[in-house]
This record gives sequence, structure tokens and C-alpha cells, in this order.
Amino acid sequence: MILTLTMNPSLDISYPLKHLVINNVNRIDDAKKTAGGKGLNVARVIQMAQKPVIATGLLGGHIGQYIQDELAKDSIAHQFLSINQESRHCIAILHDSAQTEILESGPTINQQDQQAFKQHFANLIAQADVVTMSGSLPKGIAANYYAQLIDIANKQHKKVLLDCSGQALKEALQHHEKPYLIKPNHEELGLLVNKTIDATNVEQISDILLHAPELQAIPLIIVSLGQYGALARYQQQIWRVSIPRINVINPVGSGDATLAGLAIALSEQSTLPTLLKRAMVFGMLNALEAKTGAINLAHYDALFKQIEVNLY
Ligand code: ADP
Repeated sequence: MILTLTMNPSLDISYPLKHLVINNVNRIDDAKKTAGGKGLNVARVIQMAQKPVIATGLLGGHIGQYIQDELAKDSIAHQFLSINQESRHCIAILHDSAQTEILESGPTINQQDQQAFKQHFANLIAQADVVTMSGSLPKGIAANYYAQLIDIANKQHKKVLLDCSGQALKEALQHHEKPYLIKPNHEELGLLVNKTIDATNVEQISDILLHAPELQAIPLIIVSLGQYGALARYQQQIWRVSIPRINVINPVGSGDATLAGLAIALSEQSTLPTLLKRAMVFGMLNALEAKTGAINLAHYDALFKQIEVNLY
């Protein structure tokens, strides 16, 4: 079983509008409301791939209940810790060929809930093979909280796949217990090492993967590069993953789908080249769908065959 962690889930609302009129009323006929947050995208993709998954994290109030109902509708097993505050809304207004987002920061998590969640996590992870941790941490939680959860997971010999950025990622990498895998995109990697990274500059990225001190103790690093595929470092070897051109419909959530593919491949002990191919196929399958964090397995085999994995 794969456990997916979402510490700050949201009820995502999308408002399609031809034009957004500022300082006036805008009426919407077809608002869409879905369970959101990077970790929930990961869980949805794993469920769509018909692999066992449990989604966990923190949920509260009426919005938390709505999110749980949405997960139940999608047959996604979930065991969240209930908190005494409302979970958040995130609003995306799709207008004038643009997307304007209004993101609530969400609840501030008190010490008691932080402690309770650690216990909840320790109990759940006993049943898991691997665990994914995705997205930002809610207010009130220190940036080293993922590092604390990695301690718990590593004690139980469970592999952690960490997909976050900024200070939470830095703290997790500085900690004595490490995640097994991280999956930054090129911008997130750049933020981590304070460099501007060009997604097509394989030499620059491979140099960072082999020499950046903060990365050396992480067994497996996948730098996802959107349409350019990925570059991976396992132990001291760099692998170049080349993908075919596809007709992208909506690439939002492709990184989450990639993480889902990685989690499945690790839980099924795929070889490294197969793991990299599966991860890329999942990212591409998401980019081929209109819905964020969704895949259609019908295209899996055709894409898998077109991916090349080579030692760099
Ligand atoms: P993130 O969403 O975290 O920024 P990426 O944009 O790197 O991650 O996407 C993850 C993976 O999804 C890529 O490695 C690739 O396999 C696939 N993907 C994303 N965007 C595209 C695209 N425009 N064309 C083809 N594949 C894509």
C-alpha cells in the first residue's frame, strides 16, 4: 500500500469566465469543486492506476467533510486526522485565456494537532510500503516537520518520496535522516542550490546532481523537466530520460502524476530504467487529460515504448 500525505488540502473551485470584469459582478454557471492539494492528486492518480493507496493529512470543518465526500466518490481510501478548524478553499478563475488564482493560506495548526498527527502517521505507515509527502506545510508547522515525519518513516524502514520546495525541502535535506527520493523540477532545484537552471542544460543539471553537497546523501533524485523528460541520479550515476512529443491538454499536476508513478514503481520494486519510464508515462498521461491529477491508462503502453533511458 502507498500512503500519500497532504498536510494542507483544499477544496479547489474553478470558475470559467469569458471575461473577468473587475469592480463589478461576474456570474458563473458551471463552477467546479474538487478535492485539491498535490498529495491528493498523487492519491487520485494511484487509485486510477488501480493500485492500493490511502490518503492522509489534516482536514477540518465543513470543507474538510466535503473533501472527504469527494474522495469517497472517487473511491480513494482516506484516513485524515480531524482538526477543529476549517480546511481551505483555493479558487482558480479561468478567464481571457488566463488563470487568476486566489489561494487561502488555510488553518494554523496548533502543537496538540501536530503531535497527534505524528502518532496518527506512525500508526498508518506501519501498513505502507512507501509514503509520498507533497506540497507546502500549513501555518503553525515548523519547516522541519517533514524531517520529523521522515524520522518516523525511516525507523519503520519505509521509503519516503518527498516533493516539496523552499525551506521545508532544505530542512529535510539537512536532517540526519533523509528521504529516499526527491523529485524537484528544474526551478525547484535552482531554488535549492541558488542557481538559475536551464531545463535543456543537461551538463549543468548533472553537475549539480553529482556535486551539490546537500544532495549527496539522497539515494535517488529525479529532476523533472516538463517536455524535456527528466534527469535522474542514482548513487553516482546520471540517467537521461527522453520522452516523445505529445499534444498537451493540461500539464498542471504532471509532477504529482510523476510522483505517483515513482511510488508505484518503488512499491513494486521495478528496475531503475523501468521506474524512470513509468514515472515519465504517468506525467505525460496527466498532461494529456483536461483534469488536473488524472490519467487514462489506455495510452500507457504506446507511450512507454517511446521513452528512452540512457546512462549520461
Ligand atoms: P512539475 O509539474 O512538478 O513542474 P514537470 O512539469 O517537470 O513537473 O512534469 C513532470 C513530468 O510530466 C515530465 O517529466 C514529463 O514526463 C511530463 N510532462 C509535463 N509537461 C509535459 C509536456 N509539455 N510534454 C510532455 N510531457 C510533459
